[in-house]
Amino acid sequence: MTVRWDEVADGVYARRYREWDLTVGLVVGDGACLVIDTRANAEEGAELAGAVREVTPHPWTVVLTHDHFDHSFGVPAFLPCEVWAHENCHRELAARGRLALPDRLLSDRAELHVGGRRVELVHFGPAHSDNDVVVHVPDASVVFAGDLVEFAPPGSFTAESFGTDTTLGGWPGALDGVLGLGAEVIVPGHGAPVDRDFLVAQKEILRRLITLDSAVRAGELDAAAAIAASPVAEDVTRAALRLG
Ligand SMILES: [Zn+2]
Repeated sequence: MTVRWDEVADGVYARRYREWDLTVGLVVGDGACLVIDTRANAEEGAELAGAVREVTPHPWTVVLTHDHFDHSFGVPAFLPCEVWAHENCHRELAARGRLALPDRLLSDRAELHVGGRRVELVHFGPAHSDNDVVVHVPDASVVFAGDLVEFAPPGSFTAESFGTDTTLGGWPGALDGVLGLGAEVIVPGHGAPVDRDFLVAQKEILRRLITLDSAVRAGELDAAAAIAASPVAEDVTRAALRLG
């Protein structure tokens, strides 16, 4: 896989990496740009910063889609600059001793102006993590969804999609929130851009996992039966339902 910028709409780019199949974003306005996620460490962040400079010389602002290291630990390569994130992202990164912390925090919504382009940052409640932020570029009909959306062929989830900080029950509603933004192109946190139908299908998978989870918690299903009835692979089901 060649690492390159994919222009998904006018002045809006996605860049997909071999490492964790991570996908980062870039929005270029008139005299300013916005970098969405930073890769996993200072060295990888420096590579990304250099790649941004191949596209635009404009000063950048950074937004973090959530605190997970593969998205957030490359921040030092971009400083000094404004770094936007959810307030819980700041808490998590500070708890892990990170020195390069976001300094522009939101709880629900924020609106940025990136060189004349309006960009919305929205948190739809706890889902993949408790600090997922999506980045909506209305004039381009694009939304960067972070790990609320992952495209990992042939399925839409991996075991890594579900962590101890995941709120399974909140995830379908968060996807409804993303769909409600109305964007046609959805850039996931991992993998290639997807369309709205993909999110609808992903929501259905999550609903079925939530139903199985409830049945397991209620003692109506054992782990083996839940795995057999699951729409996703065993390792993914185990992670989502915390079956160990
Ligand atoms: Zn994540």
